[in-house]
Amino acid sequence: MSFSSLGLSDALLKAVSNQGYETPSPIQQKAIPPILEGRDVLASAQTGTGKTAGFTLPLLHILSQKETSRQRPIRALILTPTRELAAQVHENVRSYSEFTDLRSLVIFGGVNQKPQVAALNRGVDVLVATPGRLLDLQNQGVISLKQIEILVLDEADRMLDMGFLRDIERIMALMPVKRQNLMFSATFSKDIKKLANGILRKPVMVEATPENTTVDAISQKVYRVAKDKKTELIIKLISEGNWNQVLVFTRTKHGANKLTKKMVSSDITAAAIHGNKSQGARTKALAGFKSGKISVLVATDIAARGLDIPLLPHVINFELPNISEDYVHRIGRTGRAGASGEAISLVSADETTFLRDIEKLVGERIPVTILEGFEPDPNASTQPIKQGQGRSQSSGPKKSKSNTPRNSQENSSRKSSRGSESRSTSRRPKSRRD
Ligand code: AMP
Repeated sequence: MSFSSLGLSDALLKAVSNQGYETPSPIQQKAIPPILEGRDVLASAQTGTGKTAGFTLPLLHILSQKETSRQRPIRALILTPTRELAAQVHENVRSYSEFTDLRSLVIFGGVNQKPQVAALNRGVDVLVATPGRLLDLQNQGVISLKQIEILVLDEADRMLDMGFLRDIERIMALMPVKRQNLMFSATFSKDIKKLANGILRKPVMVEATPENTTVDAISQKVYRVAKDKKTELIIKLISEGNWNQVLVFTRTKHGANKLTKKMVSSDITAAAIHGNKSQGARTKALAGFKSGKISVLVATDIAARGLDIPLLPHVINFELPNISEDYVHRIGRTGRAGASGEAISLVSADETTFLRDIEKLVGERIPVTILEGFEPDPNASTQPIKQGQGRSQSSGPKKSKSNTPRNSQENSSRKSSRGSESRSTSRRPKSRRD
């Protein structure tokens, strides 16, 4: 199948060809035709599958078929959970719309709103936004969503995890009932299906890769190691392997900072990226990593979500996530676009339960290596990590999968996604509000 056989306009085909894309990815092949037909679509697709073009190309095609009015009301809204993802999606929208007359804009919090307001006043066809800033500007009367024709919820699962349900509901109420809805999510949880039922009308369901299976191109490896030797081990692996594009996951923001400091003092260029960092620091860290100035990006799950870093050869789980699905998301950052990748997990005794849960989910045993001098502590407890100090309160495999919070910082946002907290509560971390 080719892009031209999908029926996209010449302006879009030119943009796609400028990007060097030769054939549509599986999710694009499946999602673009029903979207062009005006259908609502519920798509299961992770970052790295080409999902952004999967919804952006047909959206731009539909909008460019109609003449733009002089007022230029916002006609398409793409909602994303994080600032980074919003920025990335907008980069894509801009590239793909280069040869059309459509105007686009991205808005998110943590930065001055003035330039965003000025651009909105000039008129925008496609708006990419995080929920918090969108609602702020709508409250200020700067934004009207009354003429939205197409709504995209990108990474809807993460939106719910981050406590955006109430925001999404408020935003829905500001839009015309008659519109096209597209929902993209890495997983189809019960909550996602419920949200989809409330928003989508007779959706076409499309899937890029089977849910919760790991990509074949990724080689997975576990190092069993004593907890207090993890830092030394990760520094050894990165230094001796001469790895210079490594994404490392820690469970907490504090852990990310601590590890980054240790790496820097061992002459590894590293930067941390998490919700407590300013937008400027996050953008700088990501740009440094992409350009190769920084070899190691140490991230929490939330911050790493949606980062578009092509051809990432190494992902290291400094700590295993206590939500097994997060493991799949994390390692999905490597082995992308057909490139091979390696996903390494440093596992101490107290993470044994998490490892078993993950193996159950991915349906395979992950090979274990033990390095001399870094052996696991035979006397360490295999009791799962407790909550508090950035730890979880899991007491068994079932609980750790679905009931326990990821970590203390995510606990409050989970509650709010169930509707027991409002967006304005002070317990909600600031970094999530937008
Ligand atoms: P996404 O899943 O949207 O984050 O896209 C992942 C990466 O795949 C991005 O760097 C895109 O530029 C790239 N991409 C998207 N569609 C295609 C395609 N049809 N062929 C090759 N690369 C693509």
